Amino acid sequence: MIIGSHVKMKAPDYFTGAVQEALSYRADALMLYTGAPQNTRRTDTARMKIEEGQEMLRKAGIPLSHVIVHAPYIINPANRTDAATASFAVEFLYREIQRTAALGAELLVLHPGSWTVTDPETGIRSAAESLNRLGDYPEPVTVCLETMAGKGTELGSSFEELAQILEKLNHPGHYGICLDTCHIHDAGYNVTDFDAVLDEFERVIGMDHLKVIHLNDSKNVRGARKDRHANIGKGEIGFDALYRIAHNARTAHLVRILETPYIKEQAPYGIEIDMLRSGVYEEERLSF
Ligand code: FE
Ligand code: FE
Ligand code: ZN
Repeated sequence: MIIGSHVKMKAPDYFTGAVQEALSYRADALMLYTGAPQNTRRTDTARMKIEEGQEMLRKAGIPLSHVIVHAPYIINPANRTDAATASFAVEFLYREIQRTAALGAELLVLHPGSWTVTDPETGIRSAAESLNRLGDYPEPVTVCLETMAGKGTELGSSFEELAQILEKLNHPGHYGICLDTCHIHDAGYNVTDFDAVLDEFERVIGMDHLKVIHLNDSKNVRGARKDRHANIGKGEIGFDALYRIAHNARTAHLVRILETPYIKEQAPYGIEIDMLRSGVYEEERLSF
């Protein structure tokens, strides 16, 4: 099992701080935003202490393919109703691909976006058009569209919608999928039978497209379309199902990333990783 969590990358340590945080959880993977997730202000990669961070990973035996980047969620590829905003989003996304490559990472997770004032079909066409504007870029980075909970007008809450975006792409080799367990549970999939979910994924999208897994419990019942993450074992999915997903043999080569909430301002990731490795769930360890 390859597992890590979302970690912070911030001044003054940037990438070395992010790697240090992951190592403190005894993780063998990590996911970061290149700046605040809710804005598009970004520090120059030359100041991000990338080589030092890569050296720390090398010493820890963690390959760069276990570093995942998440694009900021205010980028909405599915909304092209305002031309200036739409072209800014594409330009920003391309710079994010370049930052991902500068870190030595290979996977950039992106929310497909919301159709807002249009309709799902227009949203699907707009998302594909935004991505097609990136063209056949040279960086060795795969943009991974994330499965979404279906909150509001969010696209990507069914494998079919994601497949419809993928089939409209001019350079499909640049794209993959990030599967988020909280999101697909909230979208109505029964993740307690994960092999059946993967069979469905294989039928609709194809397993080769699956690149990374977000492992989260959910505060809400299946189908609630809410997108509120819970700590492992404390939500409606439950520890046993998440443990089975964590150790699922068909996806053993894929990185798992925890995006569970802090508890009393403390990161739960070291404990969650430990429990998912051992298979022993002790709820009191998550009650700080
Ligand atoms: Fe996400
Ligand atoms: Fe996620
Ligand atoms: Zn979420």
